[in-house]
This record gives sequence, C-alpha cells and structure tokens, in this order.
Amino acid sequence: MGRCGIKNRKIITVFLIGLLLLTAAPASVSKAQVDDKTIRVGFPQQEGMTHINADGTYGGYTYDYLMEIAKYTGWRYEFVQPEGDLNQQLTTLLDMLSSGEIDILGGMVYSDALAEMYDYPGYNYGTSYYALYKLDTNAELTADNYYRMQPLRVAVPSTRKLRNAKLDQFCEMSGILVEQIFCDSEEEQVEMLREGRADVMLAKDVGITQDCVRAVARFTPISFYFATTKGNKEIVNELNSVLAAITLGNPYFSLNLQEKYFAESKDKIEFTQTEREYMQQNQSVKVVLLGGRPPIQYVDGRGEYRGVSIDLLHYAAEMTGMEFEISMTDSIDEYRDLLTSGAYDVAAGVTDELMQYEWQNMTVTMPYLSSQISVVTTNKLDVTELAGKRLALPEGVSYAGEYEGNIVYYPTGEECLKAVHAGKADYTYGNTYSVQYYISNPLHRNLIVVPQEEEWSMKFCFGVMDTEKTELLGIMNKVVQSFREQNLLQTYLYHNAYQMEDMSIVDYIAANPIGAIVTVTGAIVIFSVLIMILLRHNDRRHNRRRQLENARYEQISEISNEFLFEIDLAADTLNMTAKCAEYLQMPRVISQFSRSKTGRSDLFVRLQQESSSYEIQLPAAAGEGRWIRVATKCIADSAGKPIYVVGKLTDIQEEKEEKERLLTRAQTDTLTGIYNMSGFREKLEETAKTGGRYVFFIIDIDYFKLVNDNYGHYTGDMVLQSMGKILQSVFNGEKDVVGRLGGDEFVVLAQCDKGKPEAGEKAELLRRELGRISFPGQEAPVTVSMGAAVTDRDIEFESLYKKADKALYDVKNNGRDGCRIV
Ligand code: GH3
Ligand code: MG
Repeated sequence: MGRCGIKNRKIITVFLIGLLLLTAAPASVSKAQVDDKTIRVGFPQQEGMTHINADGTYGGYTYDYLMEIAKYTGWRYEFVQPEGDLNQQLTTLLDMLSSGEIDILGGMVYSDALAEMYDYPGYNYGTSYYALYKLDTNAELTADNYYRMQPLRVAVPSTRKLRNAKLDQFCEMSGILVEQIFCDSEEEQVEMLREGRADVMLAKDVGITQDCVRAVARFTPISFYFATTKGNKEIVNELNSVLAAITLGNPYFSLNLQEKYFAESKDKIEFTQTEREYMQQNQSVKVVLLGGRPPIQYVDGRGEYRGVSIDLLHYAAEMTGMEFEISMTDSIDEYRDLLTSGAYDVAAGVTDELMQYEWQNMTVTMPYLSSQISVVTTNKLDVTELAGKRLALPEGVSYAGEYEGNIVYYPTGEECLKAVHAGKADYTYGNTYSVQYYISNPLHRNLIVVPQEEEWSMKFCFGVMDTEKTELLGIMNKVVQSFREQNLLQTYLYHNAYQMEDMSIVDYIAANPIGAIVTVTGAIVIFSVLIMILLRHNDRRHNRRRQLENARYEQISEISNEFLFEIDLAADTLNMTAKCAEYLQMPRVISQFSRSKTGRSDLFVRLQQESSSYEIQLPAAAGEGRWIRVATKCIADSAGKPIYVVGKLTDIQEEKEEKERLLTRAQTDTLTGIYNMSGFREKLEETAKTGGRYVFFIIDIDYFKLVNDNYGHYTGDMVLQSMGKILQSVFNGEKDVVGRLGGDEFVVLAQCDKGKPEAGEKAELLRRELGRISFPGQEAPVTVSMGAAVTDRDIEFESLYKKADKALYDVKNNGRDGCRIV
C-alpha cells in the first residue's frame, strides 16, 4: 500500500485542484465577463505593504488583500512600478491615479483634502499605528514598565511633525513625561537606542524596516484605504461590496495579514534576568506525558514519541537552550505514579480532566491547545438516543456530557474506540483531534463523530511540578505564549495528523465523506449549469435533446442543495425543476410569467433584465423566511436579443447563520463570554444613541499577576471568569454593557440616572460581590481598583476611557482596593 500510495496522492492532488478550479469558477464567471478588464494597480516598493520578495514574487499586506479581492471580482491586475525612491514613486503614482493612468492605489490615508482629489470606498482595509519601539536586546524595558521612565527619552524623526505631536498627546494622556530626541533617519534612531541615549524610538508600525526592535506601545490608529481616480464609480462600488463581504466572511482576515506583515521579532522570547540564570543553571528538564492521544501525544509505529506536545517541547528546547528529557506512558496509573515520584519537573499535555486529581504542587501554564469534545458512536445508533447506553471511557477519566450510561473502562482512548467499533460499547468521547485521527483510518468507517458544544472543550497545558520553581513556570508560560502568537499549532497539527500517502482515493472519500460529497456535488452542479448555458446558446431547435438534458439536470439537482430554473423569455414561461418548485412551494411551470404575481415578486423581478447574483430572504409563506442566493445567466441569440435566463437558487440559510455566529464570536471575549473590546465599543455606541445618563467604569484586579504566579494560569483564568459572571449579575439592566478589554481589565457602561451617588452605590455593591471570589489555597480576598466617569453627554468611548483611566491610575497609586468617580 505504501508504494502505490505516492501515486494515489498525486491523483488526489490533481483531482482536488481540478475540483477547486471548478468550484471557484461560478463566483467569478459572471463577474469576469461583465468586468472583463485588467485593473492597473500602483505598486510602490514599500516593505510590508507592496514589496518584491528575494525570489522575485510579490508580497505584502496590500498585495495579499488585492488577491483576496480578485477571488470575488475576477479582477486581473497589472502592477505599475515607477522609478525612484519611495517618495518619488508615491508622487508619480498619485499623479497617475489623478489622471486615470492607474485605477487603484493602496495604503492611502483619508482626509477631506485627499477626498477632493480621489474617490474612496466606504471601508478601509487595514489600520496602522504609531508605535514606540525598544531595542530587542533590552530586557529591562517592557510594555509593563516603559511608562515609569521619567522622562521617557524618545528618538523621533525630525521631519514628522504630526507623528511627534501625536506622541506628545499620547504621553500627556498616559501621564508620561517625554523628552524628544530628533533624528534624521530610522538608522539614526536605532543608533540612539544602541548608544543608550534614547529609551525608545517612534515609528509607524507599517513599513518599519528595522528588525532589531520590538514595540512596547501602540497608539493613534490610522486607517488606510484603496483609492481610485475621481469619478470611477464602478471601482468604488465594486470595492464597497467586496470589502464588506471579506470582513463579514472572515472577520480575522485583516488581523491575520497584520500579524503576517507587521508583527515584529515574534520568534524571540523575552526572558527576565532570573529566568535566564535559571536556564543556564538547569540544563536538563525532566518531562512526563500521558500518551495514547494522537496527534497530540503518542508513540508512533516505530516506537518514537510524537505529537504536538512533543514538537512544542522541541520548540521550547530551541527557545531556552535547555534539554527536555521526555518519558511517556499510556497507563494512567503509571503516569500518576511517575508524577508523584518527585522525579519530574514538568508534566506536558495536562488537561482539565487530569487536573481533578489536584496534583500536589503542580501549577499549570496557559493552555497551548484547546480541542472541542466529540462523542463517537456507530452509524447503527441514533445519536439522540444515547442516554443510558454503554459508555466506554479511558481509566481515570470522568464524563460530564449530556448522556449518562453504564460506564465500561478501557486502558486508553484508542481501546475505547475499538470497543465501540467492535460493538462492546455503544459510545465514547474524546478530544476531536484524536478522534478524527483514529476515524480517518478507513477501518473505522462505521464510526460517526458528533462534535459537542464549544463550551465543553479540553485544554492542554504544561504543569510545573514544584511550586517553588516560579522561574520555570514563567519560562514555560512564555514558550506557550510565543507558540500561540506565532500560530504554530496549525503547522504542528499538520505535521502530526495527516498520513495521506497510506490512503487511496476511495479511502480518502470514506474518511472525509462530507468533504468529498460537497466537492463532488458542487462540481456536478457547476458542470450542469455550464452545460445548460452552453446548450441554450447552441441550439434551441433540438427540443427533444433538451428535454433529455433537462431530465438529467433534474437528477443532478436532486442530490444537491441547489435548485435550478429557467425562463423562456420568448414564451414568457418559467420552468422549475420539481425540487425547486417544492422548495419554493410554487407550481413547476408558470406561463405568462412576466405578468404573473410570481414574475413581479421581489424574488424574480431583478433577474429578468440581466445576469446577476443577489441574496434575498424568502417570504414566510415560501420556505419559512430562509435566505437564498439567486444566480442567473441571461442568454442572447446571435442578434444579441435575450432569449433565455437560466438560474440557480442556493439555500444559504446555514451560511448566513454561520456568518452571524462568526460576527458574534468576533465580538465576544472567549474566556469570559462577555463582550471584547470591539464588541463593547459597538454596543456602547448603540446604547449612546438611546440617550440617558451613564457611568463608565474601568475595573482592574489588584496584583493579579501574583494570582497567576502563585496559583497558576488556570486559577487566574477562573478568577477572570468569575469576575465576568459577577459583572453580568450586578450590571443586569437593559442598557448596561459589560466587557473585557484584555488581561485583567474590565469595563462597564451602566445606566445611572441619579449621577455620582448612584454610581458610588453600584461600585460598592460590585466590590462586595467581587470579594466573594474564592479559589483553592487562597490567602487573601480578590480586590479591584476602579475608575469611573459619570456622564450624560459625550458618550464616546475614547473620552470616557481617558477620564476613567486617569481615576483608576489615582486609585492604583493610592494603595489600590478602591473606587474614584469623576
Ligand atoms: P496592578 O495591581 O497594578 O493591576 O497589578 P497586576 O499584577 O494586576 O498588574 P497587571 O494588571 O498589569 O497584570 C495583568 C496580568 O494579567 C498580566 C498577565 O500575566 C495576566 N493576564 C493577562 N491575560 C490573562 C489571561 O487570559 N489569563 C490569565 N490567567 N492571566 C492573564
Ligand atoms: Mg491588575
């Protein structure tokens, strides 16, 4: 099997690429024909935005964004690269954009003056910030302490008046005394840092070319845009709809590009002096893992330790220079014995379910992997009827899911799956990565996987065995943080999870039935629409043949979630496939279509004039108000007269819901379930419009870092979660909004008709409730510092935040555990 596997893999690749091309086609086919035009784009040589890589390929934030846009519009690009240095290039390109010699220039800021000269879409495509950078090698200065420098010496570019004014503004707001040191170039700024004559340098995070520096603060966001020639409505309109679609379809798109191009030196971890000493003195770290959980941690066929946890330990070794000696066992009893023997420093792959043993002296880091839980059963059983059935579980693990039953224990997770496969148990559960790994083996094709609710997930952390070793805990936490920041999980999972060469196409389809069915039916439907278009075009006289073809499309559409129809314009008749008619709850054939009620309905009215694609919600009578996408193609005879419209309806209700869900997720803080920064701001703006008097709180936990350091990140997370719950329960008014901005900083906007006294009462109530937070081993109650601003106008995030933050700062400086209201 191994030998022929390689050939099969090639076939699969070709097969998939073929399908991908076909699936990509319909989105662009209609557009490409309408806008069959090459867009000329200004391409200044600007590192990180539009640049040419060493191998001659193009790259950069703007470039990647344009490529994404092309997926929606079918645009092809001609990149225009003028001569000269960056300033000259930009001047030339701006002139060319004015005169229409190029169509688009990216990286444009917006101002009223510029908007007189160029046209802008309503949406930006990214944000840059001014940032303060320190020398990468300067371990003393961090994002947490740079503002304590009095004064903070900043190397600034002497020509950038606006940028320097923003710095002054930022420092004034943050109470930092600043001393500006003027430099003529970025190189000179770095030199100032090297010579110790400046603490930090000021630069824009987009396009900074130095890689020996690291940002300690970012401020003043500046949005950038694609601009086009004045009056080019076509491009502005197209950009408007595409930019909205990209953001809605993937709220993280810009963020990912931002990380790819603007985040600096993330591959280096900043260790403190004591941590570095620890790493030098402790060259060897003993690690123990519980195996049997591919692709996370397991022993492979050759007896080698593999998995994400193992790769991460290699990464830790690389980052720290320490050696990690690894032991792994599949038996939970042995694992427990090894852990308690005192011979090990670190446990890797520690999950919440193992935490319940409350290992003595173990503190966990933040998680490096979080996996949804899936229930696995056989295709003979109905998943809704698992209650009371036989549940297979690995020894030492308990079940907290929805269905209880008679529990049968097996030594490992794999044994549990085998038991279900063999019919000795009815179901089991496990982390979805491991479950998928086993299920992808074609031998297990009778098993089905049912992912459970997202809240029920399994988190993998490191556990540091001796609580005295706070340095080691700090080191492991930083390794995990760096791993997460660099998104290494995808790479490691890929490395450990997929073994395609051992599979044939049939196995592949068996292992990925849904993926395969979706791609294949997608391709069939696209084929069928294309065939339909071609046939209409070629020959209207061969009616009989057409009828035969029609019968064939109908059969194809029977197996997809797409519904086909056609309008014969000459005969003024609408024909639907049986399935389409059933879906819309309409008759299959509607004659005198243009005069009928259906013809004049919102659903069909637009498609009679031109080829188009639009989304529309069905009236409740037809299809319970579901969302559908209508795509049509108008076909003309040789004289150019439209004779036919062929069309396709796709039920996109689930897609819409998924987008909605993504949007909600993008606005929610995953740890606490309350709003995150962007969700909070949006809600605040919405609430502000309703009028009324409010109080805005910033709440920051006192000495929260100590909770993490002394009781572990897991406990820290619990405290943050309790905090979120209490805030929600205290501020439960209709207009109250609570959010977590990040770290241990929370914000609240609460209705407060009676002004300061009422704000004071609310703060007191909150302080009392928060005092009840408890966790094992706790020595002192959790306290918070609060800054608050009462307002009945200017309900605007920035100004409220500024006022409340200043008040909070005063409370922190006056011994904490208090509230100041301004
Ligand atoms: P202060 O009284 O001055 O507020 O002191 P502090 O220790 O609370 O200092 P600060 O607010 O700056 O510390 C916030 C800490 O929160 C730093 C970071 O380690 C921790 N933290 C940030 N995000 C998370 C998280 O998601 N989970 C946990 N457990 N800790 C976090
Ligand atoms: Mg704090």
